[in-house]
Amino acid sequence: MRKPIIAGNWKMYKTLSEAVDFVEQVKSQVPANDKVEAVVCAPALFLPTLVEAAKGTDLAIGAQNMHFETEGAFTGEISPTQLADIHVQYVVLGHSERREYFNETDEAVNKKAHAAFAHNLVPIICVGETLEEREAGQTVSKVSSQVKAAIKDLSSEQVAQAVIAYEPIWAIGTGKTATAADANEVCGEVRHAIAEEIGAEVAEKTRIQYGGSVKPANVEELLSMEHIDGALVGGASLEVDSYLKLLEAG
Ligand code: PGA
Repeated sequence: MRKPIIAGNWKMYKTLSEAVDFVEQVKSQVPANDKVEAVVCAPALFLPTLVEAAKGTDLAIGAQNMHFETEGAFTGEISPTQLADIHVQYVVLGHSERREYFNETDEAVNKKAHAAFAHNLVPIICVGETLEEREAGQTVSKVSSQVKAAIKDLSSEQVAQAVIAYEPIWAIGTGKTATAADANEVCGEVRHAIAEEIGAEVAEKTRIQYGGSVKPANVEELLSMEHIDGALVGGASLEVDSYLKLLEAG
């Protein structure tokens, strides 16, 4: 019922020509969109070129961040209006790296989620616990409170369209993956938090991704789990072969 969504998160990697090469190679090999949603979230600088390169194909382009205001005196920022204007379709919000290094708060993530929907962008909202929080038994309370804060005052229709990415911080870029069972359990808690905040029917529709050292070797097992509807992938999304293998598992 929930269509799998595999999103690459390129972070601050690749040059423009490398990014274009990737899209040119991948775009004709992407599985049909009715089977799996294939997304690449690229550095902002490349977005107009990549949207143009992927036009008319089943590869969608996303941004990695945006401001919540539609315009204004915010030097260095990019607005939802600007992303929508160049036909970007997705935006990653509240990635743990942005929360850690750029002081992104739950409140800002919520404002950004509202702004995304106001401009027809699909938000991929990231949540996840640190190793200390996991060891202290706080995983569920941390993740649930992040989810509830992020979707506050969104409509049922919006939450049904949103994508939540559960990314345990200790698993990002470390080669350590949560076991499929652990990842599924927390993704189930994400669904439970949505049900508590908005309702169980909506929670059944929201796609929940797992992220954190996902690669071709573990993606199939992760995606076979009940509550895992896709993956948000950093390192393993940078190479064409590896990205295509991830999509095949979708
Ligand atoms: P990783 O990154 O796949 O390299 O662990 C995931 C992410 O940060 O979204």
